[in-house]
Formats: sequence, C-alpha cells, structure tokens
Amino acid sequence: MIIAKVETFPLRIPFKTGSRSDAAAWGDKDLPAADSLLVKVATDEGLEGWGEAFGFKATTSVRLAVDELIAPLCIGRDATQIAPLMLEVQKSLHVFGRNSPLIFGISALDIALWDIAGKAANAPVYRLLGGGAADLACYASLVRYSDPSLVRANVRRAIDAGFRSLKLHEIALPAVRAAREEAPDAELMLDVNCAWTLNEARRRVEELKQFRLKWLEEPVWPPENYDGLAQLRRTCGIPIAAGENVSTLMDFERLMAAEAVDFVQPSPAKMGGITELCKVFPIAAMSNTAVMPHSFYDGPGLLAAIHATAALGTADAMIEWRYFDLETQIYGGLFAPKEGRIPVPQGPGLGIDPDPSVIRAYMRV
Ligand SMILES: [Mg+2]
Repeated sequence: MIIAKVETFPLRIPFKTGSRSDAAAWGDKDLPAADSLLVKVATDEGLEGWGEAFGFKATTSVRLAVDELIAPLCIGRDATQIAPLMLEVQKSLHVFGRNSPLIFGISALDIALWDIAGKAANAPVYRLLGGGAADLACYASLVRYSDPSLVRANVRRAIDAGFRSLKLHEIALPAVRAAREEAPDAELMLDVNCAWTLNEARRRVEELKQFRLKWLEEPVWPPENYDGLAQLRRTCGIPIAAGENVSTLMDFERLMAAEAVDFVQPSPAKMGGITELCKVFPIAAMSNTAVMPHSFYDGPGLLAAIHATAALGTADAMIEWRYFDLETQIYGGLFAPKEGRIPVPQGPGLGIDPDPSVIRAYMRV
C-alpha cells in the first residue's frame, strides 16, 4: 500500500459570538478563532487517513513544512512502514530543528498513517496498540479568562456539564481563587504556561497552596529548564506537570531523569505523533509517573491521545478536553465527553473522520 497523496487543510473556526476569550497564553490579547491544521494521506488502494498538527499561529508554517518538506519524502513510500518511514523523515530533516513546525507536521503524518493502519486492519488504533479501556476520564481545559467573574461563570458551566476535574490557564491569584470558591470540591489544575523565573515560582507556590491544586503545570521559564523544575518540585508541596513543549524521546528521558515532574504531558500533535507518544509511556512507568497527554486540540490529535492512553495509560490517566466555545468542532457535534468521561472511538483507525461539511465551511484560504 503506497502513499499516493498528502493534502493539508488549514481550518479557522471562530468562537461563538459573545464568547471571545482573553487568550494571552498564545500571545493574543483577543483570540477570535481557533486555527488548526488537518493533514489527509491517501493511498493507492483508496484508503484515507487523517492527522492533525498543532496549529494556532503556527498553522501556516506547519502547512509549508508538510507541503514542501515532509510530503515529498512520503509520497511513493509504503504506508504500512510507519516507524521506519517516520524515522527516515526525522533524520532527513533534523538540521531544521527537533522541536519546531517540522516535528508538528511529522506528527500529523504519523497520526494519519496510524489511522490508515487501523482502517486497513478494520480495527481501532487502540487495539493495534494492545487493546484497552472503552472510555477514559477527562478534564475540562479552560481558556484563560483573567476576569474572575468570567472564570467563575465558566467553571460553573463546566461543573454543570458534568466535569469534576478542571484545568485553568490563569496567572493571577484572584482568578484562581474565584475558581476554587465556585467549585470547592472539584479537582483543580493550574497551567501558567512557563510564566515565572524559578525564584518567582517559589514565591507564587506559597500563595497557591491554599487552593489544593492537583497539579501546577509549566511554572518555570524556559520550558527546558528541567533542573529548575526539579528544584521547585522537591520543595513546593504542589505536584508538578510538564511536557507539552518537550519534543524528542531523548528530551523526555532527560525530563524524567531530572525528576522534574509528577505528571508528564507529551503532545501527540507536536512531538511526533502516535509512534513517539507510545515511547513515553514505558519511560514514565519506570518512575511511576502518570502520562497525562496534552491534547489542546479537537481533531485527530485528540483521538491520537485517546487511543494511546486507552492502550498504554495508567488507571489515573485523564484526557484533556479543550473547553472552547467554538461555532463547531472538527468532528461536528459527534464527539464529546459525558459526565467527565470520554469514549474511545470503536470504528476502524482513529474511529471518526473529520466532518467534510466543517472542512468546507471553515477552510482558511
Ligand atoms: Mg499546558
């Protein structure tokens, strides 16, 4: 089965009117829409697989990387040789960066090839990986609202929707306090997206202790400061999570060896797809660290995290569900968690294809 064609689909799905978010976490004062990049791989036998690369402001760069550098290395090659082909592509392009739009693009290709592998075998990907749970715990990952009253309203909405675990992307104390007051019994996580120096983080954790966080995510700048993170973790009394900005297997090994995290968060649409994601589970298991994949996206990247976690994750693993107010999602309304649990799609491959009408309506030109 030969890879015949690789196509890229940049999508821009706006927030519902009246629900714009202060999304400073991504460098925007006012994020009007979520951009994503879908990649479709077609084989000479007529099978099609879908992948996703981390998008937002990088969407155009990743698309160029796929169209100009990655796709030409894949077309004409055997679609069933996923790991050897992806290794070859990584080796061919390594001089252009090991944690970059290139790896995001390679991730999308890899996920699409796993989708094809499942479709060819008439089995869901999680079964190709060894089989596992039919559904998984998941948490609502809220965007940064900054305004405590908005935080409160959205925490309430997520609780009313059945979530018992919520992640905030707030930096300021009043916003975190508002969430804790609104949801005194919920499991709360806090992601500050590498906001602080180590010394600053030390001061902040003292103030944050009162909120009983399940984890504090990426407290230290820069994200590759694993020793700094480890120093904070040893003394701060709040479990530490990180990993969405870690790319290669060797870097994950360094993160784990530094004893920097309680929860490790590989991001399948950023760090190499399902092939690379699967390698993180055993190295995390060696230090009893739970893998909590980063999946702040709603397409094949999310399903990649679900299938790998279903097969390889520990009982306490949770899936990140991006709690966004978009006009629609890549799978339309078909796929969503219920009462804080998310189903593992049972169809062949990733189990669901992106909704063609969504692609038609929201394709960015
Ligand atoms: Mg994060």
